[in-house]
Amino acid sequence: MKVSPDLTNDSRAKRRVSILGATGSIGCNTLDLVRNQSDLFTIEALTGNKNVDLLISQAKEFNPKLAVIGDDALFGELKDGLSGTDIAAASGQTALLEAADVDSDIVIAGIVGVAGLAPTLKAAQRGAIVALANKECLVCAGDFFLDEIERSGATLLPIDSEHNAIFQVFDFEQSENVDHLTLTASGGPFRNASLTEMSAVTPEQAVAHPNWDMGAKISVDSATMMNKGLELIEAFYLFPVEEKQIEILIHPQSVIHSMVSYKDGSVLAQLGTPDMRTPISYALAWPDRMETPGRQLDLAQIGKLTFEAPDLERFPALTLARDTLKAGGSLPTILNAANEVAVRCFLEERIGFLDITRVTADVLDRTPNSEPNTLDEICHCDEAARVLAEEMVSALI
Ligand code: NDP
Ligand code: MG
Repeated sequence: MKVSPDLTNDSRAKRRVSILGATGSIGCNTLDLVRNQSDLFTIEALTGNKNVDLLISQAKEFNPKLAVIGDDALFGELKDGLSGTDIAAASGQTALLEAADVDSDIVIAGIVGVAGLAPTLKAAQRGAIVALANKECLVCAGDFFLDEIERSGATLLPIDSEHNAIFQVFDFEQSENVDHLTLTASGGPFRNASLTEMSAVTPEQAVAHPNWDMGAKISVDSATMMNKGLELIEAFYLFPVEEKQIEILIHPQSVIHSMVSYKDGSVLAQLGTPDMRTPISYALAWPDRMETPGRQLDLAQIGKLTFEAPDLERFPALTLARDTLKAGGSLPTILNAANEVAVRCFLEERIGFLDITRVTADVLDRTPNSEPNTLDEICHCDEAARVLAEEMVSALI
């Protein structure tokens, strides 16, 4: 692959932004940036799923052409909430695709999980700048997604903080001189917890991330470290490196967001306070930079940056994801789908914390690898893995 560093857009014009997943953590952070620099951006389309009240208030504030709620049952509320405005209201899957298709320069892909794949693909297929937070898209359908980007001439900008960091310091002109990438990881809330302690953690404890304020699913992924596993696969698709050139390093302060090591021994890193508004702003303003309301990094105050190797025994999700990436085929799709189901079941208190990775591993063990090429085939693998994961969860209860 891979990421195109070219952008032909006129960066002087007001940039037209659509946000898929506006009501989530990535969406709210994006709107905060737009609110602060309203002379630079207009909002064209906003989507949510269940949080209709927030979507209505966002739409009233930012005046998009279209506001879409994923859940059809909430359409009436959205329509009533937007009556008297010029904003079109719609609901459901097709409407999410319409939101992605609204003419805008940049689409923030901030829906969580595979639910974001079809709308993000739609944005890619019309050649938009796709600012990708939704890593599940790449894990589930990496080659297919990148082919669509290439075919349409869309521009892919990573806003996952690690990948955004690497994007900022990766020399695409000399990728042969890159020795390896280092993805940093905070280690999550259970970095120092024993397996016995982890077996008893509650959803509330698991979503309480020490450094980042994020949605529930990615917070649980960070706690199991599956998030870093998914990011390993994401990095493989985004940058022209092999799996064995991507390392993972625990860095509890989340100040160094990731690094690129070159053959001559130089290591280039991107640093900053743990605030998603920085990587999001990088994509919003690309190829310029913009001011953000976040704090500047104060290294003297932080004093010390520490690092440690990840513990693969306590965090088996890391090995699972790496093995999956090595094997390729349908396994990353299956890994992602099984993990999504297992995380949901953990949040619903149907299984324990350690069961999340166990269920995911069991589903991978029981599913033969295949080579899905079309979107239908990928969706079929995803769906079959979800059904099996539900069965595994039921067997545990
Ligand atoms: P949130 O849970 O905070 O937000 C998810 C968004 O997706 C919400 O707008 C939600 O709507 C919407 N949504 C959920 N399910 C559906 C569905 N079935 N159909 C349509 N829309 C849906 O997640 P985050 O913002 O934390 O994460 C979003 C993505 O960004 C994830 O892929 C995550 O891995 C990635 N990411 C997030 C980071 C962060 O700091 N938060 C950092 C790096 C990557 P509603 O709330 O209205 O129900
Ligand atoms: Mg990340």
